[in-house]
Amino acid sequence: MKIPDIIIAVDGYSSTGKSTFAKMVAKEFGFLYLDSGAMYRGVTLAGMERGAVGETIDEAALKALLPPLDLHFVHSEEGTLLFDGQRCIEKEIRTLEVSGKVSPVSALPLVRAWVDERLHAFAEKGRVIMDGRDIGTTVFPRAELKIFVTAAEDVRAQRRFDELVSKGDSPRFEDVLANLRERDYIDSHRETSPLRQAPDAFVLDNSDMTMHEELVWMRGLIQGKFGILA
Ligand code: C5P
Repeated sequence: MKIPDIIIAVDGYSSTGKSTFAKMVAKEFGFLYLDSGAMYRGVTLAGMERGAVGETIDEAALKALLPPLDLHFVHSEEGTLLFDGQRCIEKEIRTLEVSGKVSPVSALPLVRAWVDERLHAFAEKGRVIMDGRDIGTTVFPRAELKIFVTAAEDVRAQRRFDELVSKGDSPRFEDVLANLRERDYIDSHRETSPLRQAPDAFVLDNSDMTMHEELVWMRGLIQGKFGILA
């Protein structure tokens, strides 16, 4: 059975496992996976490295650095990696320092417009599953399928903490929890494109679910909606 060129939007709070879920679905159904948060993290890192993002944000400097900025995804055996020009920045964008600055940077309309333009261009490639905060509400409001992922706060903080530790960092649990709360607050209260559940989204609360259970849930949804069997 042919799978149509559809867009699946996966939105939700920080560290709900959206990326893991979206990657798994992409693999199972042959979709291209795109992580919109990586783009916001990439802009933030570029701003930090080039002096536009520090204790405060220099909007004029950020505006000047965006047009020539070459952030793009490379699809490899290791998964989808974000590059700034020739440099892979996948590890650098995942640090707690970048996490601490990304939400105020993402709240700026000039940054959102720049990222949205690129997300639309990436999605021209066919069957796409994209995760983020406003994919089903603003970026692709007509996405064929929308998922809103949520999980208990302590479960999310523990997952994020474990992820950072597995990458060799040694964060304090309180800092991870505080960052998660702060990002959720800024992301849901900003004026431009705040994090919201789209009215037509299916909610996935994965607090007590295994990845396999999430996949079974998604299979049911995709089969019901498109008649596709993985
Ligand atoms: O998904 P991830 O946690 O990596 O996203 C990092 C940050 O990027 C979010 O906390 C949010 O501030 C921003 N973001 C956004 N809109 C998206 C995706 C991410 O504002 N669609």
